[in-house]
Amino acid sequence: MSIQNLNDCFSISEMFPVYTEQLRVRSEHIPRGAEALDGDMTIEALPTWYGGTTFRSALEAGWAATLDSLNIAWQYEPETITLPSGSTYIPDFWLPDLGTWLEVKGPGVPRIEKAIELGASRACSCGDACTCQWSGGEMVIIGHAPERYNPWIDPENQNVSDRILLRRTRRHGGHLQWSSADGRAVWLTRCCDCNRGSWFRTSRCRACGSNLAGAHGYRSGDTALQFIDPSCRPTPSQTALADAEAVDRTQPSGGAA
Ligand SMILES: [Zn+2]
Ligand SMILES: [Zn+2]
Repeated sequence: MSIQNLNDCFSISEMFPVYTEQLRVRSEHIPRGAEALDGDMTIEALPTWYGGTTFRSALEAGWAATLDSLNIAWQYEPETITLPSGSTYIPDFWLPDLGTWLEVKGPGVPRIEKAIELGASRACSCGDACTCQWSGGEMVIIGHAPERYNPWIDPENQNVSDRILLRRTRRHGGHLQWSSADGRAVWLTRCCDCNRGSWFRTSRCRACGSNLAGAHGYRSGDTALQFIDPSCRPTPSQTALADAEAVDRTQPSGGAA
């Protein structure tokens, strides 16, 4: 069983080095002020259309496409929530089958206090006796920018030229990265019974309640989970490119006759 998706991707992935590096920097430092975000906001403010919805950023649209690839139903900004503190909050995604909120955290959106408060207010305190619809109550996941694909450590890329690896890197969406708003570990799997992707902490599928024993739990950043760029659908030119790569692989000396 694998959640791997074979879509070839590029365009968003061109920005990933920037995304991931800035995300790393921001996760280690308190933002200096609004001026420190200027560069990021340029990237973040690109409205992106996918699946009949206009998203605020390419990263959000990428998460929607990735959820689709995982067979996870989603609703984009379905609700304005009043938090216990009195402030209002519109989470990015509600995943109705999983009882899970997904907040996409681009590098220009450094604060997740509201997501943390939402998670704390929607978790249940039943413990082992939990009979809630979703074990542990509603969950809040933070969706990060993907980890960049590294073709040089992919065992499938042995005997492939650097030139092709570079091209492959540009077309790969990278790998999913997430964390939970409460800071505890959470894994992703695909349920063998309902075939839906599900973040989980107990051995129960959050979507159908089946036992997940035997299903593989993926960690954030697992190379088997590919982030999907929705702007990337196979086009005739990309198909031709793929064919050219196939030819390259069979003619290692490169001299096309
Ligand atoms: Zn409960
Ligand atoms: Zn299930």
